[in-house]
Amino acid sequence: MADKTVLISGAGIAGPTLAFWLKAAGFVPTLAERAPTLRTGGYVIDFWGLAYDIAERMGLAGDLDRIGYHMRELRIVDGRGKRVTGFGTAVFRELTGGRYVTLARSDLSRLLFERIKGSTEALFGDEIVEIQEHANGAKVRLRHGGERRFGLVIGADGLHSNVRRLVFGPEDRFEKRLGYIVAAFEVHGYRPRDENVYVAYNEPGRMLGRFALHDDRTLFLFVFAYDGDHAGQILELPGQKGLLRESFGAGKWECPCILEALDRTQDLYFDRVSQIRMETWSRGRVALVGDAAFCVSLLAGQGSALAMTAAYVLAGELAKAIGHEEAFGRYEKLLRSYIVSKQQGAERFAAAFAPKTRWGQFLRNQVIRATAIPGLARFAFGRDIIDKLQLADYPWRTLVCINRTWSSRDRR
Ligand SMILES: Cc1cc2nc3c(=O)[nH]c(=O)nc-3n(C[C@H](O)[C@H](O)[C@H](O)COP(=O)(O)OP(=O)(O)OC[C@H]3O[C@@H](n4cnc5c(N)ncnc54)[C@H](O)[C@@H]3O)c2cc1C
Repeated sequence: MADKTVLISGAGIAGPTLAFWLKAAGFVPTLAERAPTLRTGGYVIDFWGLAYDIAERMGLAGDLDRIGYHMRELRIVDGRGKRVTGFGTAVFRELTGGRYVTLARSDLSRLLFERIKGSTEALFGDEIVEIQEHANGAKVRLRHGGERRFGLVIGADGLHSNVRRLVFGPEDRFEKRLGYIVAAFEVHGYRPRDENVYVAYNEPGRMLGRFALHDDRTLFLFVFAYDGDHAGQILELPGQKGLLRESFGAGKWECPCILEALDRTQDLYFDRVSQIRMETWSRGRVALVGDAAFCVSLLAGQGSALAMTAAYVLAGELAKAIGHEEAFGRYEKLLRSYIVSKQQGAERFAAAFAPKTRWGQFLRNQVIRATAIPGLARFAFGRDIIDKLQLADYPWRTLVCINRTWSSRDRR
């Protein structure tokens, strides 16, 4: 590839990971992020397997330990806060040899970005408005940054990807709505706190969870069934809060206190729970990665991990291929069936997250109870926890990080 410049749209999880590995492969990445600064907020994610390996290869193992949480229990409570069912999460650490950690999404995004900060051009508050492909590259018009040329353009701009819309067509062609809305926010000083326990309260079709973060912060996650026309994203903050109040206002447990805290927040993550399903993840000199290409949804619990895995594979295939077509083809070939199986799993799991009837709730609770039977939890979770995909070792040119020691070449 003669032109090694790559414009990456989006500095969430996939974007900074891709920039890091592209740099290691001798490419010159530039990030364009629509938000004026790194986005904060969002939920906590469980982190293990391939993404854990990639984070280690990026020198982040110590940081994961420092900023992460070692969850002890998922606890489902009734209207009075009494435990109804739940399970210990030690089984996840057993199945992964201790390489399992829970992280706030915003902490992970910040860590990844710090690995490229200062050495990679990052255009915050800007976005692509037009892409024109030419024989040797792509001419891109940025909303504020004028016209520029790049060898390749990658859309890492999430579920509502702008690059996907510009190059592949409107979102509704690729979006499969799973019939739920997710919202998340955090506050300081909330009581009660249950350290390293994910506490969840259910009403039919609704789930409200609470998780204690470091520094006396608490994170709340709402998931509720929603088949209405409101496209989660297009509602403004007051409308989003209104919908949450409507859905959880009659709820028991800590619903009234949490809704009061919601009134005061200005940073609310609110979106549809959807998947993105596309026949191909690239066209010409443009490819998609992470949620932009294959969002598996919150219900898979692995969106960030998969975004990192895909970014690593895409950069690696570009590192070893002669042309971008070959690299994009192999990237997709390696990952497609793996991603499809994750999407199918998430769809099956949707009903368990926030069962729509009391009977469904009862059944789900029985299944959770059964995981207390010795050996059953290992069997039940093993299939989803143990990765069938193996990370390849790619020909990184400037790498770099071995046990957190960086080569002189990279420091330059
Ligand atoms: C603030 C935030 C909170 C989140 N919280 C949750 C949650 O609670 N539950 C859940 O299921 N998923 C959540 N997600 C999605 C989750 O992070 C992703 O599934 C996962 O991290 C995949 O990573 P990604 O890099 O592909 O996409 P994302 O992490 O979504 O990153 C995409 C990035 O692209 C940027 N972007 C968007 N449009 C443009 C544009 N036109 N031009 C340039 N940049 C653009 C976004 O600002 C964002 O920084 C959240 C995402 C964000 C941005």
